[in-house]
Amino acid sequence: MDISSSAPIDPVKLERLADVAVKIGVRLQPGQDLIVTAPVAALSFTRRIVENAYKAGAGLVSVFYSDDEATLARYRHGSDSGFDRAEDWLYEGMAKAFGNGAARLAVRGDDPMLLSSQEQSKVARANRANSIAYRPALEKITGFDINWNIVAYPNSAWAKLMFPQDDETSAVRKLADAIFAASRVDTDDAVIAWDAHNGALRKRTEWLNGHAFSALHFKGPGTDLTVGLADTHKWNGGAETAKNGVICNPNIPTEEVFTTPHARRVDGHVSSTKPLSYQGSLIEDISVRFEGGQIVEAKASRGEEVLNKVLDTDAGARRLGEVALVPHSSPISQSGLLFYNTLFDENAASHIALGQCYSTCFVDGGRLSQDDIAAKGGNKSLIHIDWMIGSGKIDVDGLTANGTRIPVMRKGEWA
Ligand code: ZN
Ligand code: ZN
Repeated sequence: MDISSSAPIDPVKLERLADVAVKIGVRLQPGQDLIVTAPVAALSFTRRIVENAYKAGAGLVSVFYSDDEATLARYRHGSDSGFDRAEDWLYEGMAKAFGNGAARLAVRGDDPMLLSSQEQSKVARANRANSIAYRPALEKITGFDINWNIVAYPNSAWAKLMFPQDDETSAVRKLADAIFAASRVDTDDAVIAWDAHNGALRKRTEWLNGHAFSALHFKGPGTDLTVGLADTHKWNGGAETAKNGVICNPNIPTEEVFTTPHARRVDGHVSSTKPLSYQGSLIEDISVRFEGGQIVEAKASRGEEVLNKVLDTDAGARRLGEVALVPHSSPISQSGLLFYNTLFDENAASHIALGQCYSTCFVDGGRLSQDDIAAKGGNKSLIHIDWMIGSGKIDVDGLTANGTRIPVMRKGEWA
């Protein structure tokens, strides 16, 4: 009998993660309200977050729980017409709260394959309705009107997907350990470790911003892609300053530096280097061709139908809203684990995202109107889906406006 496999999730590291989520992630301010969303599977962790939030001086903390079983009940028994609806009243309420200064914290820990065996047209319709309803709240989040954070907690279905050979207890413990390592709460003073990590990411963004490249060129097996960068684009990574002045770490973990591509200046072909887990479906071996910024050809060895539905969401879904650089030596990449979760997997490799861009990835982005952003090459869409194109075999060059080529990455590492 393997006694260690019945050991529970490390309570010290779990408490540290809750502490880091509130202090470094959201950096909740005294008197500030907080809206938390979490799966019921993360109940105990979410309670620690709420406790830490009130200890940090929170005004009102409101928690909204989701439940995988309740979601499945809708697909099994819900009327067909209901799949074009979403809780617009809830998102309008959240948008109102953000407008009044509330911060946002999302705990992720759902079963990545929850909807994989449900009717995909219903999944697509429900996602679309949800994206539309979510828009007023999401704009305030992606535009950094407020400070926000996403953090993860292991759910048993997620753990079993990652560690199929293990029993449930052991799988959950392994996933918890992987989350703790990736989230940098393995050390005694996790808050100091995060300050150092933010400093290292800032050095990279300063170097890239100093060069103000007009495009990046990715080359490797199955990939020869030129990604034009938006006019007056700005590289971000690690901590971000929200419009309310609070410096937050929106993602825990995070290893990426990222900016806004030019929605009309992307050309060539690119292949995914890791599977994409999208709302309960796996999409593998994506290969697409861009012309004038738009995807004109898309293939996948698995999930091609889902991919094409995603691309048909709206006019901006075939164009890029983000390009991000992550070294192959990043801790998440070196763990060799596929998390089936973008929060982790996007930090294992350089990636691009289809859909909506971030206004914060422009110089003075907070002052730009939607029209200004579009004129500079920023993309607009209901979706934002990251997928991995980096590996230890990819070279990246920066192209300056006068055509000079400067090595940025060689074989997946900073040049
Ligand atoms: Zn990213
Ligand atoms: Zn992204």
